[in-house]
Amino acid sequence: THKYIATPTRTNEILQRFNLAAKKSLGQNFLMEPQILDRMVNSAAIDKQTDAIEIGPGIGALTEFLAIHAKRVLAFEIDQRLLPALDYSLADYDNVTIKHQDILEADLNSLIPEELPESERLVVVANLPYYITTPIIFQLLEAKLDFDVFILMMQKEVAQRLTAKPGTKAYGSLSVAIQYYCDSEIAFNVPKTVFKPQPNVDSAILKLTRLATPRVTVHDEAYFFRLVRASFVQRRKTLWNNLRTAFGKNPETIDQLTEALNSAQIDAKRRAETLTIDEFANLANSCSERSL
Ligand code: SAM
Repeated sequence: THKYIATPTRTNEILQRFNLAAKKSLGQNFLMEPQILDRMVNSAAIDKQTDAIEIGPGIGALTEFLAIHAKRVLAFEIDQRLLPALDYSLADYDNVTIKHQDILEADLNSLIPEELPESERLVVVANLPYYITTPIIFQLLEAKLDFDVFILMMQKEVAQRLTAKPGTKAYGSLSVAIQYYCDSEIAFNVPKTVFKPQPNVDSAILKLTRLATPRVTVHDEAYFFRLVRASFVQRRKTLWNNLRTAFGKNPETIDQLTEALNSAQIDAKRRAETLTIDEFANLANSCSERSL
């Protein structure tokens, strides 16, 4: 009978056969629990009309589930040592392409249409290398590609930050940036015991569903994101303090800032963590109109 790669028996067999030890510096923790992979595939509603992108296939635990359920799988793996192991572990599947590449260096806008021509539905499913979780997510969100959903395993605290609501401790510029592009929710939590080697932190599966158009309308996206980040620079301080620091303190600038806050109907004494994304959008628009 067929045993999944995501079992202790096969994981150990593959690691030994290729004389592999997990590299901590590359965030390598191999998943050994098929039920979790089943739930990830279900959360992404993968079927034979769906193409799946994976980041960091490792020795193929998740890749195998994607290959079984999806039409095609395109996986990016940075670690050359894993390539022969993936060839071996995924030999039964003819719908998988492995790219030996650093995902952060990959030109996704040209590579993905090239490798997956005439795609009907595109999803990203990955057990991310945790040291680069947020850069990977923003690279995916900023790509000009028609991704439907993202099912991403990451450190639990990061998933909580990315889904945080205004007025909570975890709410910050990342929560606002994610909301700009998608609906986000934690699909389920994952205990550290299902990995080899075991990481020090618990994990969670984040589900991001891309919005057809951004949640708010801003005159200038880059300016909006900069203003959000500047507002949170010192969380304990008021919006007024953070924005004065960002824009400079000459009297004219301060007048403009006062006007911008008034016109956006935002009390300068509030803290960034209380502002909704709509309020940030209004504020960014009224600041940029005043050439702040
Ligand atoms: N998918 C496998 C699993 O679930 O067992 C392995 C997941 S492991 C947490 C993260 C994987 O990402 C490792 O295989 C690692 O080599 C790979 N990786 C790390 N940095 C990467 C990068 N910049 N680009 C592509 N892959 C990377």
